[in-house]
Amino acid sequence: MLALRVLVLAGLGVAGVAAAEAEAPAPERPWPDGAAIAVTLGFDVDADTVWWDPPGSGRGASDGISQGRYGPRVAVPKLLALLARHGVHATFFVPSWVAETYPETIRSIAAAGHEIGAHGVKHVSPSQLELAEERRVMRESLQVLERISGARPVGYRAPSWSLSEATLRIAAGEKLLYSSNLFDADLPYVHEDPAGLVELPVSWVLDDAPFFWFDAAGWDKPITSAASVHAIWMEEFEAAYALRGHFNLTMHPQFIGRPARIRMLDRFLRSIEEFEGVWFATAREVAERVRDAAAAQTAARAPR
Ligand code: ZN
Repeated sequence: MLALRVLVLAGLGVAGVAAAEAEAPAPERPWPDGAAIAVTLGFDVDADTVWWDPPGSGRGASDGISQGRYGPRVAVPKLLALLARHGVHATFFVPSWVAETYPETIRSIAAAGHEIGAHGVKHVSPSQLELAEERRVMRESLQVLERISGARPVGYRAPSWSLSEATLRIAAGEKLLYSSNLFDADLPYVHEDPAGLVELPVSWVLDDAPFFWFDAAGWDKPITSAASVHAIWMEEFEAAYALRGHFNLTMHPQFIGRPARIRMLDRFLRSIEEFEGVWFATAREVAERVRDAAAAQTAARAPR
């Protein structure tokens, strides 16, 4: 796995990768026009579903449910305006229940040219489903999102990034292009099994939820200031930039869409736009580049 990743993305031998990633000059990446970094703004539009207790039940306390509704009703329109001002396209991962419950929101996202990715039906993690149910949920979510948004998703993010043993094969069986669920690399890579599925790795530090999700049921996790998160994400961005990597940000409209936080996101985008060669791309665009680079490497190695 590591060897394949190295060949595809660094164009280097195995032994050279650690040093190459730690020091200049940075290796070539498959980003267009020699871009220095790929940046994906991802939004998981979970809405009410993450407040249901138990998960998938459709029931929850009103303080949570109404926070969830804030996402599609209030935050998404503000985020679409922000993205339009910056002239960038993002990827929105949407449970199909949310698409059916807030169809106008989902259509407005698609109409603005953003990507819509699959994120389950009722936001129950695959790790909690039987195999047949997991297959059914994946298929239903793709069908519903296609019907409502007008395009069949090509990417999958599991609710809570919590996969079963079968999830990646199910995704590949549905002919999806990429998964964005695993924490096991700094750079995108192509899975060997299932062959050809692209992985766009994630990390908790590039997720808004650990900083902003406050649950009154526990009162045990402090709320982080937007300024602190700006500083943390700048640190992460600078490191990803040095790596010529993929800065894959995961946000949730119901958390990032609150007034001070969306101002921070605006400020953050302006800050990173100052850097040379920043390629803002949807998850699909990044995955296509990675897939094509892997195919070209394979073709170059094939016996003639
Ligand atoms: Zn989610």
